[in-house]
Amino acid sequence: MDKIHAVYNSRFNYLNEIKISPLSRAYTFSDSVYEVIPFCNSNLIAFESHIDRLEKSCDALNLSLDTKKTSSEIIDLISRSKLIDGYVYYQVSRGIDPIRSHIFDESLTAETFGYVVDHTFKSQKLKVMICEDLRWQRCDIKSTSLLGNVLSMNEARNHGCDEVIMHKSNLITEGGASNIFFANNDTVFTPSLSNNILPGITRELLINEIKNLGIKVVEGNFELKELETAHSIWLTSSTKGLAQVTDVINLETKVVEDHNLFKKCEQIFFKKFLSGS
Ligand code: PMP
Repeated sequence: MDKIHAVYNSRFNYLNEIKISPLSRAYTFSDSVYEVIPFCNSNLIAFESHIDRLEKSCDALNLSLDTKKTSSEIIDLISRSKLIDGYVYYQVSRGIDPIRSHIFDESLTAETFGYVVDHTFKSQKLKVMICEDLRWQRCDIKSTSLLGNVLSMNEARNHGCDEVIMHKSNLITEGGASNIFFANNDTVFTPSLSNNILPGITRELLINEIKNLGIKVVEGNFELKELETAHSIWLTSSTKGLAQVTDVINLETKVVEDHNLFKKCEQIFFKKFLSGS
Protein backbone atom coordinates (compact mmCIF):
# COMPACT_ATOMS: atom_id res chain seq x y z
CA MET A 1 0.00 0.00 0.00
CA ASP A 2 1.26 3.48 -0.90
CA LYS A 3 2.18 5.75 1.95
CA ILE A 4 -0.70 7.92 3.13
CA HIS A 5 -0.05 11.66 2.99
CA ALA A 6 -0.94 13.43 6.21
CA VAL A 7 -0.45 16.68 8.09
CA TYR A 8 -0.18 17.18 11.83
CA ASN A 9 -0.11 20.66 13.33
CA SER A 10 0.67 22.05 9.85
CA ARG A 11 3.65 19.74 9.28
CA PHE A 12 3.31 17.41 6.33
CA ASN A 13 4.36 13.84 6.90
CA TYR A 14 3.31 10.29 6.16
CA LEU A 15 0.48 9.01 8.33
CA ASN A 16 2.49 6.16 9.85
CA GLU A 17 5.23 8.58 10.95
CA ILE A 18 3.03 10.94 12.97
CA LYS A 19 3.29 10.64 16.74
CA ILE A 20 0.65 12.18 18.98
CA SER A 21 0.43 12.70 22.72
CA PRO A 22 -1.95 10.44 24.68
CA LEU A 23 -2.97 13.64 26.48
CA SER A 24 -4.47 15.05 23.33
CA ARG A 25 -8.02 15.95 24.30
CA ALA A 26 -9.11 14.23 21.08
CA TYR A 27 -7.86 11.02 22.66
CA THR A 28 -9.07 11.45 26.26
CA PHE A 29 -12.37 13.34 25.77
CA SER A 30 -13.21 13.37 22.04
CA ASP A 31 -12.91 17.12 22.54
CA SER A 32 -12.54 17.51 18.81
CA VAL A 33 -14.43 18.03 15.57
CA TYR A 34 -13.80 16.90 12.02
CA GLU A 35 -14.70 17.00 8.35
CA VAL A 36 -14.58 14.53 5.49
CA ILE A 37 -14.09 16.46 2.25
CA PRO A 38 -14.38 14.61 -1.06
CA PHE A 39 -12.72 15.46 -4.37
CA CYS A 40 -13.45 14.05 -7.75
CA ASN A 41 -11.45 14.55 -10.97
CA SER A 42 -9.22 16.84 -8.89
CA ASN A 43 -12.20 19.10 -8.00
CA LEU A 44 -13.04 19.57 -4.35
CA ILE A 45 -16.78 19.10 -3.83
CA ALA A 46 -18.50 21.89 -1.86
CA PHE A 47 -15.20 22.84 -0.26
CA GLU A 48 -16.44 26.15 1.21
CA SER A 49 -19.46 24.44 2.76
CA HIS A 50 -17.18 21.92 4.46
CA ILE A 51 -14.88 24.64 5.76
CA ASP A 52 -17.90 26.65 6.98
CA ARG A 53 -19.28 23.62 8.79
CA LEU A 54 -15.86 22.94 10.36
CA GLU A 55 -15.77 26.54 11.56
CA LYS A 56 -19.30 26.19 13.01
CA SER A 57 -18.33 22.98 14.80
CA CYS A 58 -15.24 24.73 16.21
CA ASP A 59 -17.37 27.71 17.32
CA ALA A 60 -19.74 25.34 19.12
CA LEU A 61 -16.74 24.08 21.12
CA ASN A 62 -15.36 27.60 21.60
CA LEU A 63 -12.32 26.73 19.54
CA SER A 64 -10.82 29.21 17.13
CA LEU A 65 -9.82 28.02 13.69
CA ASP A 66 -7.70 29.73 11.07
CA THR A 67 -9.87 28.74 8.10
CA LYS A 68 -7.51 30.19 5.49
CA LYS A 69 -4.61 28.16 6.82
CA THR A 70 -6.78 25.05 7.09
CA SER A 71 -8.04 25.43 3.51
CA SER A 72 -4.58 25.84 2.06
CA GLU A 73 -3.27 22.88 4.09
CA ILE A 74 -6.04 20.68 2.70
CA ILE A 75 -5.34 21.79 -0.87
CA ASP A 76 -1.60 21.26 -0.36
CA LEU A 77 -2.23 17.80 1.11
CA ILE A 78 -4.23 16.73 -1.95
CA SER A 79 -1.63 18.05 -4.37
CA ARG A 80 1.19 16.26 -2.50
CA SER A 81 -0.77 13.00 -2.71
CA LYS A 82 -1.22 13.35 -6.50
CA LEU A 83 -4.59 11.64 -6.07
CA ILE A 84 -7.35 12.48 -8.56
CA ASP A 85 -10.31 11.05 -6.65
CA GLY A 86 -10.46 10.72 -2.91
CA TYR A 87 -11.26 12.46 0.33
CA VAL A 88 -9.50 14.35 3.06
CA TYR A 89 -10.20 13.61 6.73
CA TYR A 90 -9.40 16.71 8.79
CA GLN A 91 -9.71 16.96 12.56
CA VAL A 92 -9.32 19.84 15.01
CA SER A 93 -8.91 19.11 18.70
CA ARG A 94 -8.75 21.54 21.57
CA GLY A 95 -5.14 20.61 22.19
CA ILE A 96 -2.95 18.69 24.58
CA ASP A 97 -3.55 18.89 28.33
CA PRO A 98 -0.58 19.01 30.73
CA ILE A 99 -2.58 16.44 32.72
CA ARG A 100 -6.06 15.07 31.99
CA SER A 101 -8.76 17.38 33.26
CA HIS A 102 -12.38 17.88 32.19
CA ILE A 103 -11.94 21.62 32.62
CA PHE A 104 -9.76 22.91 29.85
CA ASP A 105 -7.20 25.64 29.95
CA GLU A 106 -8.36 28.48 27.67
CA SER A 107 -4.81 29.01 26.47
CA LEU A 108 -4.38 25.55 24.89
CA THR A 109 -3.24 25.56 21.27
CA ALA A 110 -5.61 23.72 18.93
CA GLU A 111 -4.22 20.51 17.47
CA THR A 112 -4.94 19.75 13.82
CA PHE A 113 -4.57 16.54 11.90
CA GLY A 114 -5.50 15.47 8.41
CA TYR A 115 -4.85 12.79 5.84
CA VAL A 116 -5.88 12.06 2.30
CA VAL A 117 -6.91 8.73 0.77
CA ASP A 118 -8.04 7.38 -2.54
CA HIS A 119 -11.80 6.96 -2.94
CA THR A 120 -14.17 6.67 -5.86
CA PHE A 121 -17.92 7.00 -5.76
CA LYS A 122 -19.72 3.90 -6.83
CA SER A 123 -23.35 2.92 -6.89
CA GLN A 124 -24.23 1.07 -3.69
CA LYS A 125 -27.24 -0.92 -2.54
CA LEU A 126 -27.50 -0.99 1.21
CA LYS A 127 -29.02 -3.38 3.68
CA VAL A 128 -29.91 -1.47 6.84
CA MET A 129 -31.21 -2.00 10.35
CA ILE A 130 -33.57 0.36 12.17
CA CYS A 131 -32.29 1.24 15.62
CA GLU A 132 -32.92 3.64 18.43
CA ASP A 133 -30.85 6.80 18.28
CA LEU A 134 -28.65 6.53 21.37
CA ARG A 135 -26.71 9.71 20.82
CA TRP A 136 -26.40 12.99 22.68
CA GLN A 137 -28.47 16.09 22.02
CA ARG A 138 -26.04 18.03 19.79
CA CYS A 139 -25.73 15.78 16.77
CA ASP A 140 -25.61 18.95 14.64
CA ILE A 141 -21.97 19.36 15.75
CA LYS A 142 -19.60 17.21 13.70
CA SER A 143 -17.83 15.91 16.77
CA THR A 144 -15.47 12.92 16.82
CA SER A 145 -17.50 11.66 19.76
CA LEU A 146 -19.30 8.98 17.77
CA LEU A 147 -19.76 6.13 20.23
CA GLY A 148 -23.54 5.95 19.70
CA ASN A 149 -23.01 5.66 15.93
CA VAL A 150 -20.16 3.18 16.37
CA LEU A 151 -22.13 0.84 18.66
CA SER A 152 -25.26 0.91 16.49
CA MET A 153 -23.40 0.43 13.22
CA ASN A 154 -21.43 -2.51 14.57
CA GLU A 155 -24.59 -4.11 15.94
CA ALA A 156 -26.06 -3.70 12.44
CA ARG A 157 -22.92 -5.19 10.90
CA ASN A 158 -23.38 -8.24 13.15
CA HIS A 159 -26.80 -8.62 11.55
CA GLY A 160 -25.31 -8.49 8.05
CA CYS A 161 -26.17 -4.81 7.47
CA ASP A 162 -24.16 -1.97 5.96
CA GLU A 163 -25.80 0.95 7.78
CA VAL A 164 -28.50 1.92 10.26
CA ILE A 165 -31.51 4.21 10.16
CA MET A 166 -31.94 5.79 13.57
CA HIS A 167 -35.05 7.09 15.30
CA LYS A 168 -35.68 9.09 18.49
CA SER A 169 -39.06 8.29 20.07
CA ASN A 170 -40.20 6.94 16.72
CA LEU A 171 -39.16 10.04 14.75
CA ILE A 172 -36.61 9.32 12.02
CA THR A 173 -33.29 11.14 12.56
CA GLU A 174 -30.53 9.96 10.17
CA GLY A 175 -28.18 7.14 9.21
CA GLY A 176 -25.15 6.16 11.30
CA ALA A 177 -22.88 8.09 8.93
CA SER A 178 -25.37 9.60 6.52
CA ASN A 179 -28.60 11.56 6.10
CA ILE A 180 -31.81 9.87 5.05
CA PHE A 181 -34.22 10.59 2.19
CA PHE A 182 -37.29 8.72 1.07
CA ALA A 183 -39.65 9.12 -1.85
CA ASN A 184 -43.33 8.54 -2.36
CA ASN A 185 -44.83 8.98 -5.83
CA ASP A 186 -43.35 12.27 -7.08
CA THR A 187 -42.19 13.75 -3.75
CA VAL A 188 -38.91 13.47 -1.87
CA PHE A 189 -38.96 13.66 1.94
CA THR A 190 -36.15 14.20 4.44
CA PRO A 191 -36.04 15.06 8.16
CA SER A 192 -35.68 18.80 8.86
CA LEU A 193 -32.47 20.13 10.30
CA SER A 194 -32.40 20.09 14.11
CA ASN A 195 -29.99 19.42 16.95
CA ASN A 196 -30.67 15.72 16.33
CA ILE A 197 -29.05 15.45 12.92
CA LEU A 198 -25.91 16.54 11.16
CA PRO A 199 -26.54 19.22 8.53
CA GLY A 200 -25.08 17.04 5.78
CA ILE A 201 -23.39 18.80 2.90
CA THR A 202 -24.56 16.14 0.44
CA ARG A 203 -28.10 16.55 1.81
CA GLU A 204 -27.96 20.29 1.16
CA LEU A 205 -26.43 19.94 -2.33
CA LEU A 206 -29.04 17.39 -3.32
CA ILE A 207 -32.03 19.33 -1.96
CA ASN A 208 -30.97 22.55 -3.72
CA GLU A 209 -30.20 20.86 -6.98
CA ILE A 210 -33.37 18.77 -7.28
CA LYS A 211 -35.60 21.65 -6.11
CA ASN A 212 -34.10 23.81 -8.86
CA LEU A 213 -35.06 21.14 -11.35
CA GLY A 214 -38.67 21.14 -10.16
CA ILE A 215 -38.71 18.03 -7.94
CA LYS A 216 -40.89 18.46 -4.84
CA VAL A 217 -38.91 18.19 -1.59
CA VAL A 218 -40.55 18.20 1.83
CA GLU A 219 -38.47 18.66 4.98
CA GLY A 220 -40.30 17.71 8.17
CA ASN A 221 -40.69 15.36 11.11
CA PHE A 222 -41.41 11.84 9.97
CA GLU A 223 -42.35 8.74 11.90
CA LEU A 224 -40.79 5.36 11.23
CA LYS A 225 -44.08 4.11 9.82
CA GLU A 226 -43.63 6.49 6.84
CA LEU A 227 -40.76 4.26 5.73
CA GLU A 228 -43.13 1.28 5.54
CA THR A 229 -45.00 2.86 2.63
CA ALA A 230 -42.06 4.64 0.96
CA HIS A 231 -41.32 3.62 -2.64
CA SER A 232 -37.63 4.38 -2.26
CA ILE A 233 -35.24 5.12 0.60
CA TRP A 234 -31.69 6.37 0.21
CA LEU A 235 -28.83 7.65 2.33
CA THR A 236 -26.45 10.49 1.48
CA SER A 237 -22.92 11.34 2.56
CA SER A 238 -19.73 12.86 1.21
CA THR A 239 -18.22 9.43 0.58
CA LYS A 240 -21.38 7.53 -0.45
CA GLY A 241 -23.01 10.20 -2.60
CA LEU A 242 -26.54 8.73 -2.86
CA ALA A 243 -26.85 5.08 -1.83
CA GLN A 244 -30.17 3.34 -2.12
CA VAL A 245 -31.56 1.17 0.65
CA THR A 246 -32.82 -2.06 -0.85
CA ASP A 247 -33.40 -4.03 2.33
CA VAL A 248 -34.47 -3.05 5.86
CA ILE A 249 -34.12 -6.08 8.10
CA ASN A 250 -36.47 -5.07 10.89
CA LEU A 251 -39.21 -3.11 9.13
CA GLU A 252 -41.74 -4.12 6.47
CA THR A 253 -41.16 -1.88 3.47
CA LYS A 254 -42.39 -1.57 -0.09
CA VAL A 255 -39.20 -0.14 -1.57
CA VAL A 256 -38.68 -0.68 -5.28
CA GLU A 257 -35.09 -1.19 -6.44
CA ASP A 258 -33.87 1.51 -8.83
CA HIS A 259 -37.07 3.50 -8.33
CA ASN A 260 -37.37 6.19 -11.01
CA LEU A 261 -37.28 9.17 -8.62
CA PHE A 262 -34.19 7.81 -6.91
CA LYS A 263 -32.48 7.22 -10.27
CA LYS A 264 -33.38 10.74 -11.36
CA CYS A 265 -31.93 12.26 -8.16
CA GLU A 266 -28.82 10.09 -8.46
CA GLN A 267 -28.25 11.17 -12.08
CA ILE A 268 -28.77 14.85 -11.24
CA PHE A 269 -26.28 14.59 -8.39
CA PHE A 270 -23.74 12.67 -10.42
CA LYS A 271 -23.95 15.03 -13.37
CA LYS A 272 -23.64 18.17 -11.26
CA PHE A 273 -21.03 17.15 -8.71
CA LEU A 274 -19.16 14.05 -9.78
CA SER A 275 -18.82 14.06 -13.52
CA GLY A 276 -16.12 16.77 -13.45
CA SER A 277 -17.78 18.53 -16.38
N1 PMP B 1 -24.92 12.26 9.39
C1 PMP B 1 -23.89 11.70 10.01
C2 PMP B 1 -24.05 11.18 11.41
C3 PMP B 1 -22.65 11.57 9.35
O1 PMP B 1 -21.59 11.00 9.97
C4 PMP B 1 -22.53 12.00 8.01
C5 PMP B 1 -21.25 11.82 7.26
N2 PMP B 1 -20.25 12.62 7.73
C6 PMP B 1 -23.65 12.60 7.41
C7 PMP B 1 -24.84 12.71 8.12
C8 PMP B 1 -23.58 13.11 6.00
O2 PMP B 1 -22.90 14.35 5.94
P1 PMP B 1 -22.11 14.80 4.65
O3 PMP B 1 -23.06 14.73 3.51
O4 PMP B 1 -21.70 16.19 4.96
O5 PMP B 1 -20.95 13.87 4.49
